[in-house]
Order: sequence, then structure tokens, then C-alpha cells
Amino acid sequence: MAVPDLKPRSGAVLASSRLRKIVLVASIVAVVWVTAVVSLGGWRGDHLSQKHTAQAHANALTMAQANGLVLERRFEALRTVASLLTERDRMGRAAFAFNLRSQATDREAWDDLLQDGDLQVLSQQLGQTAQELSVDGIFLANETGYIFAASNWDQGLTHLTESFQDAQHFRDAMTHGSGEQFGVDTVNGQPRFFFSVRLNRGAQVQGVVTVSTSSERLMPLLQRGREDVLLTDENGIVIASSNDDWMYRSMGKGLTDLMTTVQLGLRYGRSEFLEMPGPMMADHIPSMAETGLVGASDDAEGFESHVFMDVDGLKVIRRDNLIMIIGLASFGVLLVLVVGLALAQIAAIRERAIRDPLTGLYNRRYIDESLPGLIELDERGRLVGLALVTFDLDKFKGINDTWGHDIGDKVLRHFATILVDCSRRTDLPCRVGGEEFVTFLIEEDLDRVEIYAERVRQRTEAIDSLAPVPAGRITTSAGLVMRRQGEGIDEMVKRADVLLYRAKENGRNRLERDDREETSVPDKPSTAPAT
Ligand code: GH3
Ligand code: MG
Ligand code: MG
Repeated sequence: MAVPDLKPRSGAVLASSRLRKIVLVASIVAVVWVTAVVSLGGWRGDHLSQKHTAQAHANALTMAQANGLVLERRFEALRTVASLLTERDRMGRAAFAFNLRSQATDREAWDDLLQDGDLQVLSQQLGQTAQELSVDGIFLANETGYIFAASNWDQGLTHLTESFQDAQHFRDAMTHGSGEQFGVDTVNGQPRFFFSVRLNRGAQVQGVVTVSTSSERLMPLLQRGREDVLLTDENGIVIASSNDDWMYRSMGKGLTDLMTTVQLGLRYGRSEFLEMPGPMMADHIPSMAETGLVGASDDAEGFESHVFMDVDGLKVIRRDNLIMIIGLASFGVLLVLVVGLALAQIAAIRERAIRDPLTGLYNRRYIDESLPGLIELDERGRLVGLALVTFDLDKFKGINDTWGHDIGDKVLRHFATILVDCSRRTDLPCRVGGEEFVTFLIEEDLDRVEIYAERVRQRTEAIDSLAPVPAGRITTSAGLVMRRQGEGIDEMVKRADVLLYRAKENGRNRLERDDREETSVPDKPSTAPAT
């Protein structure tokens, strides 16, 4: 029988235990999800940036050669920054010398080293170079990441890993070392560019030189020709341009995705990314996706060249991505919890709807919902038989009148526990009215049903623990029927009620079944006061 649990329980207990389960499951799901997303994000980030770095630079070279002069001139600006490379040998030698003499690990010995005149001179030269090139700073770090010379001497002997973005580019340069390791990061929403180059001595890495510059400083370098030069990030957002009007415009790639927009918003501290004029840029987008660099377009005034540089090849720091992932993950956790709570709430409401609040037994609504299925099974001969017992407490009104309604309620609750105790898992006891109860049982004949009903009758009669109600005062009458072919719930209940009425007439505290006149006679006369 479709009876999940017959023990009387309050709806609140049910709701909270179900809630606990749902919240537990939700938490496990959330933890697994967060772990998966974060590790997947990290793995993808690594994978993509490695792939793109190699790809974009290969493409840049190919396109630069193909487009000849135009690109040549545009990239001259960037090469100016990279012209530091001419000093590479000298810096490599300095790094080597520094490494040789810096075996000491304590800070004081390092400080002594920095007093070295050569290094101070080198730093001054870097300062001059930075001014000439109009860049933010130039840093020289040794193989272990200590800056031993810098255009701004205040940076001396800090460790590159103390600064997140520098550390990243340092690592990139140490790993790839090609002189083409670029990076882009945002400080206060302003893109910053890093150009890091590895200082080698033979096959050995001696250190790294990093040039950092802001987009503001970079732009004048780009504004040297007649054509527009646009630097875009991997989403097609222009982050540096020879024409201020194009800044933070989207080339229409990827911005349809809300998540990308939010992510870009975090990266650049902006909520708005204007679209580029469609016809002008749209043509380039597919080739941009393919090559990372784009050539020319036709417009009304004739042939015009545009130079795009996809800076996904200029490595994007993944810090913002991580924040984004954590944000998404917490959102997911919240969502799961809210959905879990809502489901628990629905379950609790459903539970309240089918339970009688006083006794915790199922109510008439539950019978109406679950019995038709059972009756159909019985009709098709799938059950050994379906029986119904209707119980009605005797002279119950008198109990209320004599000892009060609260005592009456107590009696009802106690009677419910007797019903539940006498029932097996397949029996279905319900409260259908004030002091009226029914039990549906899957039974072959009334003899077995009678054993059940008689046990209930006897245990009710034997109640002696509900003071001030005296022992023997609480009794019940019952009517017992087997379901007949073609019968529905109403007909069964009607027949059982007739028998119940007969039991009342015949003196109460007794059972009446539909195949015999009398089945049970009380051993002692009812002690109920007349009501
Ligand atoms: P009989 O032996 O013929 O069944 O007599 P009775 O007094 O039990 O019959 P009747 O049906 O007239 O009385 C039922 C009483 O049950 C009337 C009502 O006050 C009381 N009742 C109904 N619901 C509740 C309830 O939830 N709590 C309490 N305490 N009393 C209730
Ligand atoms: Mg009644
Ligand atoms: Mg009654």
C-alpha cells in the first residue's frame, strides 16, 4: 500500500528533516561544482594562454610580413619599446655577475651587494632609458626573481612575486624567453602592458628584464601614422588605439554573451562597451579569429587599411577570471540552496495538506488521492482483498463536556497512537472527522480484519493513563466491511457506517461486520455517562 510512514509526526519535523537532507545534498553538489569549475577554469586558462601566446605571435609575424610597410610602420612603435633588446647583452652580463656574487641568502649580505657601484650605475641608465622611451618602468630581475636594478631605484631588491602581475610576466619570460613575451593587466581599469625578455647566457637563464607601460603611454606611440591602429583583447575589445574614439569599443565579437560582458566589466572597470560601426569592422572579425591580426577593408572613401593586434597573444592575467569563477560558483551555491529550500518548502506544504495536524494521521484528502489506485488494483485482482474499518469513539461529546476540550484532544491523540501501534506497514489508518477514524487494510477476509479491530477496541477500553478520565470510560465502536467487486470508497464507507451505527445501537464498545449479526460483545457494560 502506498503508505510511506504511518507514525504520527508533525509537519514541522518532517519539513526540517527533509530540509536537512536537501541542504546536505545541495552543499555536496555545490562543493563538487565549485571544485570542478575552479580547476577546469585554471586548466583552461593555462591551456588557452599558452596556445594563444604561441599562435598570436606566429600570426603577427606572418601578417606583418604580408602587409609589409603598413604594419611595419605601426609596429615600429612597439619595437621602440623592445629596442631595449640592444642592451640585452650588457644586462645579461650584469645578471650573471650578480648571480655569481649573490650566493648569500641573508638580507644584509644582499643589501651590501646592492651598494655595488656598477648596479647603481645600471639602474641610472635604466631610468634614463625609461624616460626616453616614455615607459612606466624597467626592471631587472635575477634568476630567482629579485629585482637588482630598476629604472625606479625604490624597487631595488623587492621580489617579483610580491607583485602579482609582474610575477606572472616574469614566469612567462623565464619559461618562454623569446623576447616576445607580452602581457596585459589592468590597474584601476586601465590596461597596462608588460614586455618581458629573458636574459640568457648560453642555454642558462640569468634573469629577466621587464618593461611596463600604461595604455596612455603606449597610445602616442601608436599615433604616428595615418591609419588606425587598434589593439584588442581576446574578446575584440579595443584596449589601446591610435584614435581615442575607438577605445573600449567592441568589434562585435563575443559581447552577446552576458558572462563575457560581466567579465570584461570586472577586468576594465567599465559597464559599457560600445560597438564599432558594423560594416567597417564586421569583415575583419572572422579573419581576426583566424589570424589574430587583420588587414584591410573597403569603405565609401576607397581602400583603407586597418591594423589590429589581438592581445590575447599578449598574455592576459587570469586573476580577474578567478574572481569571476568564484563569483559564478557562489552564485551557483546560492541558487542550489534557494532551489533546495523552495523544494523543501513545497514538500512541507504538501505534507501539511495530507496530514491531520492534531494526530499526525493521514486525512481525508490523502484517502481521496491514494485510494483510487488501490481500489483499481483490487478490482483487477492484484490484491488479496481490500477491507475497511470505521471507528467512532463512544459518547465522546460527554468527555468534552465533562473534562474539557483539551482532554478531548488528548483522548483523540491517544486513540491515534493505538491505531498506529495496531497497524502493520500495509495498513492505512486515517482521521476522517472529529472522533471518526478509518483504517484500510489489505486482507483476504473479515476474520483477520476483526483481529485488528478487536485489538484496537480492547486497547481503547483498557486506557487508564488519561486522568482525569477514568479507566474504561474511553471506548470505540467499529464497522467492518470487505470491498465488493465494482465498489468505490464512498460505497464502502457507507456500508461500514451502517454497521457502525448498528454497533452504537447495540450498546457501543463493539464491532459489527457485514457477514454476521454480531461479532464482539463487550465483557463489561459501558461505563459511559449518558450524554
Ligand atoms: P456516539 O457514541 O453516538 O458517537 O456519541 P458522541 O458523543 O461521540 O457523538 P457525536 O458525534 O455527537 O459527538 C462527537 C463530538 O466530538 C462532537 C464534537 O464536540 C467533538 N469533537 C469533534 N472534533 C473534535 C476535536 O477535534 N477535538 C475535541 N476535543 N472534540 C471534538
Ligand atoms: Mg461521531
Ligand atoms: Mg462518537
